[in-house]
Amino acid sequence: MQDSAVALAKKLQSKEVSAKEVVQDLLPRLEKTNEEINAYVTLLPDEALKQAEEIDGKRARGEALGPWAGLPIGVKDLLCTEGVKTTCSSKMLENFVPPYDATVVRKIKDAGFIIMGKTNMDEFAMGSSSENSAFFTTKNPADHTRVPGGSSAGAAAASAAGIPVLNLGSDTGGSIRQPAAFCGCVGLKPTYGRVSRYGLIAFASSLDQIGPFAQTVEDCAMLMNVISGHDPMDGTSLSHPVPDYLKGLEGDLKGLKIGIPKEYFIEGLNAEVRGEVEKGIQTLESIGCETVEVSLPHTDYGIAVYYFVCTAEASSNLARYDGVVYGHRHMDATDIVDMAAKTRAEGFGDEVKRRIMLGTYVLSSGFYDAYYLKAQRVRRLIKQDFDQAFQKVDLIVTPTTPTTAFKFGDKTDDPLSMYLADVFTNSVNLAGIGGISIPCGNDSQGLPVGLQLIGPALGEEKLLKAAHHFQMAHGG
Ligand code: GLN
Repeated sequence: MQDSAVALAKKLQSKEVSAKEVVQDLLPRLEKTNEEINAYVTLLPDEALKQAEEIDGKRARGEALGPWAGLPIGVKDLLCTEGVKTTCSSKMLENFVPPYDATVVRKIKDAGFIIMGKTNMDEFAMGSSSENSAFFTTKNPADHTRVPGGSSAGAAAASAAGIPVLNLGSDTGGSIRQPAAFCGCVGLKPTYGRVSRYGLIAFASSLDQIGPFAQTVEDCAMLMNVISGHDPMDGTSLSHPVPDYLKGLEGDLKGLKIGIPKEYFIEGLNAEVRGEVEKGIQTLESIGCETVEVSLPHTDYGIAVYYFVCTAEASSNLARYDGVVYGHRHMDATDIVDMAAKTRAEGFGDEVKRRIMLGTYVLSSGFYDAYYLKAQRVRRLIKQDFDQAFQKVDLIVTPTTPTTAFKFGDKTDDPLSMYLADVFTNSVNLAGIGGISIPCGNDSQGLPVGLQLIGPALGEEKLLKAAHHFQMAHGG
């Protein structure tokens, strides 16, 4: 493990290193590793060096700089970056250059973070392996024959490989936590509304949330301090005050009650993953947590409900890609309907088309009540399961994924088996609450296992504190 971002920031603040030295040290490593794992769609080496020089100039002149100025970061390629291509790893947006920054991008820029590039993902964030990227797949740094997870594939792989350790991703049904587990880094999906989604290219708006990747929980807490908070540009962002998540890590976990949901420790769970997570639970107990069994009785419906809700919202959100305003346009059409049809046929990949069709179907009159409306009702029951559990416990612990990273091609012929990769993560999005994946040992092939902690709405402080103390005690 290399320097954490918080440790590197101290060296920058004390002028032990300059921002330019940090970037010059990182760039050759980043470029070499990126050739092996393909984490980035766009690299910004010249811009990064220029930004580093500006920060060093400000520091030399004694101008005010935030504590994190000069830290390198990667940004998932669905967060709009002014003047820099934002592709969503789709042919539809292959040449799209946004005229504005997403709020999170603006915030990290204002805090002096240096953006190293835009990371690869499954097209429009739909997928669990990077195999749905229209451009290329990203390799798992732990084993290049295996997927890094998805959809924030490049972000997780970059964090795990340290190119750089900090990354921003998004999570609609597991896209931060599942790849973090597969690659062996930390990934937090905050409570819905904690982080502004303005400038995030929408997949499923009632589920999407932006969050941090890092090698340490402490770095995630630091990045949460920077990106959280109300934004008038996002009507769903919450106005609750943002606590100091870094400070919140202090203290101990004595008396913290952690629920173990019996529905998550089931037959489909790989025995080695189960074994590692059980050791993780023992670690939690050894540092003062009390564990009790809880029940989340509607867990079984999570996948079905998720795929009704997310496809319905995706079919509506992606209607805007018709060749008129954004992105790709078929140039040889007979009329506007023909243009929209051909543009969409060419611009979208198979999985995106599958979801648009499924979503259009579940919303169509005649089927709406049976599918979409019913799914929303069951979604409420899933949320109530968590509400009831959190009356008894502070946090919930589960495996992040049922297996470790699978091989490329293993699930591409069977969309349903791909969907099951998120069976332990998507209920958290349906309930609008927060979850974090932390490294928790390896299987016998050396592949990382992730432990997931789930917290109540706006429980990030508790979640990060428990995850931090777990990581310190368990290692990895
Ligand atoms: N893998 C899930 C899906 O394909 C989750 C994706 C995400 O969180 N963006 O929808």
